[in-house]
Amino acid sequence: MAVIPVALAGRAYEVRVGSGLLADLPAQCGPLLRKERVPIVTDANVARHWQEPVAQALLAAGHEPRWLVLDPGEGAKTWQGLERVTDWLLAEEVERGDHIVALGGGVIGDLTGFAASVLKRGCGFIQLPTTLLAQVDSSVGGKTAINTAAGKNLIGAFHQPALVLADLDALTTLPKREMRAGYAEVIKYGTLGDAEFFAWCEEHGAEMLAGDRVRQERAVTASVEAKARIVAEDERETTGKRALLNLGHTFGHALEAETGFSDRLLHGEAVALGMVLAARYSARRGYISDADAERVASAIAASGLPSEIAALGLDADGKALAAHMLHDKKMDAGTLPFVLLAAIGQAFLDKDVSLDDVARFLDEEL
Ligand code: NAD
Ligand code: ZN
Repeated sequence: MAVIPVALAGRAYEVRVGSGLLADLPAQCGPLLRKERVPIVTDANVARHWQEPVAQALLAAGHEPRWLVLDPGEGAKTWQGLERVTDWLLAEEVERGDHIVALGGGVIGDLTGFAASVLKRGCGFIQLPTTLLAQVDSSVGGKTAINTAAGKNLIGAFHQPALVLADLDALTTLPKREMRAGYAEVIKYGTLGDAEFFAWCEEHGAEMLAGDRVRQERAVTASVEAKARIVAEDERETTGKRALLNLGHTFGHALEAETGFSDRLLHGEAVALGMVLAARYSARRGYISDADAERVASAIAASGLPSEIAALGLDADGKALAAHMLHDKKMDAGTLPFVLLAAIGQAFLDKDVSLDDVARFLDEEL
């Protein structure tokens, strides 16, 4: 097991990465778990595989697990979903000093974390991330949120968990496509800040996706360390450092919006394509070589993630795609801030990218 400390100004917590953590839940959590009525929020897909073993572990240690099992999918991250969770927690008589357990992917983590942030003006919570994306990204850093008609993640809070247990066993039941989607965020950490880790992904990514535990532990640990480092430097996204985590996300967001945030393109798949575009656009601007841009594209393609937007068969031109980027960003005289590459392993925030130029570039890629 690897233990990564997340050190923030006000408080610190641990992210533990390894096998057998869910089966060992009571010992891992110690006094964080109350004896009676341990509140656990999950979704039906996760429950199918993990409710029984988690319940057994808790019962064996004398705890009484209580479950709220939601429908899977992004649809849970709504005002109604939040009301459902908070009403249930109140009925379970959760107090401010208690810890709510979030067992699931980023949807369950974001929703439960936000519920914890507002319940009784803020109570504790424990993240048990069960997707690769949640283990390497959403469970760490304290961003919690729900979606509204105006967009994704616009209502939320910074609320750090008390503990994160990333159990690699959970990945054994995760659909392969979801696994690959999470892997896009893993490659992202190498591409944005660690050339050596990027090279490791090129060499060992396929083994880790195929289920190699040693490689998985390394991939998750390196990713969490990278995110923890960045979040510790810029907890509330004020200095611009945390923005580097958005590498591939501005292009990716445009593709997600164009495909209606549907199963046609998962978030991680959009980010994978977005990173290829960010790398190629960086080459176009003369920041990196074409060869380096294609190295990013090859690493992504080799893992089975999409790497060419032309293959999506989109019914939009560059201008229409670029227009989607305006929704979540401030437009200042036709320019947008973009995370670009000065080298593989060295991302930077270019605050002054011309949207027209991006549209022309996209037309060539489409
Ligand atoms: P998800 O939670 O919807 O999980 C993906 C799918 O896998 C779901 O169908 C789920 O039921 C299923 N699943 C989860 N674990 C499983 C397991 N072990 N075995 C079998 N099936 C399993 O999606 P996600 O990709 O984990 O997270 C996406 C969400 O995370 C989005 O809402 C996004 O906004 C959010 N997010 C938040 C942050 C943050 O910093 N808070 C960062 C990135 C993403
Ligand atoms: Zn992402």
